[in-house]
Amino acid sequence: MAQSYIDPFTPAQIQRLVDRYGSPLVIIDCERVRAQYRALAKALPGVDLHYALKPLPHPAVVSTILEEGGWLDLATTGEVQLASRLDADPKRCIHTHPIKRDKDIRNALDAGVRVFVADNPDEVKKFRRYRDEAELLLRVSFRSPGVVSDLSRKFGCDPEDALELARLAAKLGVPVRGFSFHVGSQAPDARKHVEAIAVCAKLLADARKEKLGRFDTLDIGGGFPIEYRQPVESISRFCAPIRKALAGLPKRIRVIAEPGRFIAGPSAIAVSTVMGRAQREGRWWYYLDDGVYGSYSGQIYDHARYPVRALREGPLHAAVLAGPTCDSIDVIAEDVPLPKLNVGDLVVGGAMGAYTWASASEFNFFPKATVISVNQEPGDHGRVIEV
Ligand SMILES: *Cc1c(COP(=O)(O)O)cnc(C)c1O
Repeated sequence: MAQSYIDPFTPAQIQRLVDRYGSPLVIIDCERVRAQYRALAKALPGVDLHYALKPLPHPAVVSTILEEGGWLDLATTGEVQLASRLDADPKRCIHTHPIKRDKDIRNALDAGVRVFVADNPDEVKKFRRYRDEAELLLRVSFRSPGVVSDLSRKFGCDPEDALELARLAAKLGVPVRGFSFHVGSQAPDARKHVEAIAVCAKLLADARKEKLGRFDTLDIGGGFPIEYRQPVESISRFCAPIRKALAGLPKRIRVIAEPGRFIAGPSAIAVSTVMGRAQREGRWWYYLDDGVYGSYSGQIYDHARYPVRALREGPLHAAVLAGPTCDSIDVIAEDVPLPKLNVGDLVVGGAMGAYTWASASEFNFFPKATVISVNQEPGDHGRVIEV
């Protein structure tokens, strides 16, 4: 049980990978990417899953999703380029950043991406000149003040303003396919999704009645939660109320989702090495070669607390894990039960695929972790692909 979050790697395998590829090291397990994708696809039958690249924009993850027959959710020119480089079919990609420069729109159109997101009149107007090539999803905001990352604070129009936005698009001749929302990441339960689906179903029907366009798509965003230090319910149970809400939609409506964390999060571990140690005020402090400016950046930006453990076994004492930089904020955890560690020992963070390496910096010139992926082909049994 205690070992489960470094599954499927044994301590010896992790040690061998670090001997070969160095430390700090992020190890992506593509088999887990496949398992997460399949679990969510099963929990949301009939919903097309667009993997949101933002939490882990890594070629191994993107390729695995494409091989599974999945779709992509791109938000920046860099993500569009990564998808193109991996030969993703642009018709299977949507561009979901609600605020774009003209050059971002053109770059995506040049790559063949057709579907974009807008959430305000200025943004809809940007598409007037592209109305023959682009289609829109209008993003609606559903506030979730309790959620760790309330994405509806920064983006989305009020549900009361959504039809007016649809009317503007119709007036300008910009085709609209439907509505999208994102209830916020790592949602505690599916209540917001269900509420948002009900409101959007009404909006879709009203827009059709007014003949404002096709309005045949509903994008239910991301937010699907994963286990960090606290257990969460299975994805099938989490999605049960969503399945029920979607079952009430007219058959003509295509439903898509934009999962990021659920696919990437459990699919990687982060391995770091004790650079030095000191006893301070009765506790051991272990200084790692990765910290909150690196792969553990999600502790700051994403408010995540990752399960961490040492590879070495032994009697446990509360210890402090600190990152390598000279900044005092660079402390990973103050209360970790750890065996007594030596310089050179390895520490492993679990569930570290999402919003971790992606937001790491090289502050103080400590390089970002090397990333490797294993099990790129089904049946690889741990074979490593270097990138
Ligand atoms: C970040 C983001 C996602 C992914 O959300 P998760 O909660 O990680 O699944 C999906 N869509 C958009 C528009 C995003 O910005």
